[in-house]
Amino acid sequence: MNLILMGLPGAGKGTQAEKIKEKYNIPHISTGDMFRLAIKEGTDLGKQAKEFMDQGNLVPDEVTIGIVQERLSKADCQNGFLLDGFPRTVAQAEALEKLLMDMNTSIDYTLHVDVPVEKLMERLTGRRICPVCGTSYHVIYNPPKKEGICDKDGAKLIQREDDTAETVQNRLEVNIKQSQPLLDFYANKGYLVTLNGDQDINQVFKDIESKLEEIC
Ligand code: AMP
Repeated sequence: MNLILMGLPGAGKGTQAEKIKEKYNIPHISTGDMFRLAIKEGTDLGKQAKEFMDQGNLVPDEVTIGIVQERLSKADCQNGFLLDGFPRTVAQAEALEKLLMDMNTSIDYTLHVDVPVEKLMERLTGRRICPVCGTSYHVIYNPPKKEGICDKDGAKLIQREDDTAETVQNRLEVNIKQSQPLLDFYANKGYLVTLNGDQDINQVFKDIESKLEEIC
């Protein structure tokens, strides 16, 4: 089962990715995670990626396509994979088509977790994180027992710098501009499945399951 997961920041992509990975036993391949790991490990790839990531830019296509190609050739991708954060450009999407064709396979579905922008603003700006243990809360949807304090270790919760209103607005605008051509690309190919992400997490997953039943 070869899948691509798409969704704007805050749409709940990470949560659904975990569930899909667990149920269908396919690797979750996030290019952002791969770059972060490479930076942490100080590899050549990390050095190349860091300068672009630090400035909020995309890592060049040839580098990104190269790491995806290498990753997809690993044994654990034989039964399928879930791509997250890739493709980000139409050039990457076209390269992926070619790469998969060379592997005698193709994408089954591009799952798009769709949430209205106003909801995303609310979700992202309400997020609070414990700086000590990393637990994530939400002022409305998942508040700590005591306002502003982590339930687990009593630390004072913080708002991540990129969760403030202007930054969120900007991040969403940039993401919408980037993702629309890809949504169009996959819609034209007939792979696109749009899911209502503005509902309970488990319901979103149920919708994904019923779609995937068609190819199981
Ligand atoms: P993410 O965790 O998916 O938001 O990715 C974090 C950063 O990694 C992005 O801002 C880019 O700099 C880089 N990155 C991740 N995926 C890609 C991609 N498909 N193409 C280019 N750059 C990427």
